[in-house]
Amino acid sequence: MRILVIEDETKVGCFIKRALEEESYAVDLCEDGAKGLQMAFATNYDLLIVDLMLPSLPGLDVLKGVRQAKIQTPILILTAQSQVDQRVKGLDAGADDYLTKPFAIDELLARIRALLRRGATEGSGVLQIDDLILNPATREVTRDGQRIDLTSKEYALLEYLMRHTGRVLTRPMISEHVWNQDFDTFTNVIDVYVNYLRNKIDRGRSKKLIHTIRGSGYMLKAD
Ligand code: CA
Repeated sequence: MRILVIEDETKVGCFIKRALEEESYAVDLCEDGAKGLQMAFATNYDLLIVDLMLPSLPGLDVLKGVRQAKIQTPILILTAQSQVDQRVKGLDAGADDYLTKPFAIDELLARIRALLRRGATEGSGVLQIDDLILNPATREVTRDGQRIDLTSKEYALLEYLMRHTGRVLTRPMISEHVWNQDFDTFTNVIDVYVNYLRNKIDRGRSKKLIHTIRGSGYMLKAD
């Protein structure tokens, strides 16, 4: 899942980015409101985290710009304790949730999980296909009851595949949601990671879940 963080306080922004990357999210950080809005237009993010006090364009205007462009991506706003009216305006302008600074990182992570599962049908947030289960809250993956240890990137890739079971996912779609803006398009890194995943999830099992769609990309499905 790819997240854009628009926050001009470098320390706070870097702290959030690092914490999210530890949870396997792909993160782009932007310190400027107008530039952040352009990035939100250019990339299909899964979540936006927007500070309200930003240079060049206030967070509230970033928020309005995104919604006016009919982009439905969940938005979490960061506000200072004193900005009650700003908070209300933010929610009215289309923010889905807010967090007051300073905040505990665990609370930020829990709110992100809650926002990301709003689109999902399964209320608990646990993802399952056949005997493969992924729990975003604990980041635990099991197949047929056996625990599977994944690296951070493998986990992120699997989570993306599992959130789109039965759909053909092209390499550009995968890179857009699993890697950040530093991704180099001219590598076969996606195929490499899909192979890593195959080795851990499908190898030695009669039922394969990861399928190659020739000329298109990949699909996760039970048969
Ligand atoms: Ca700020």
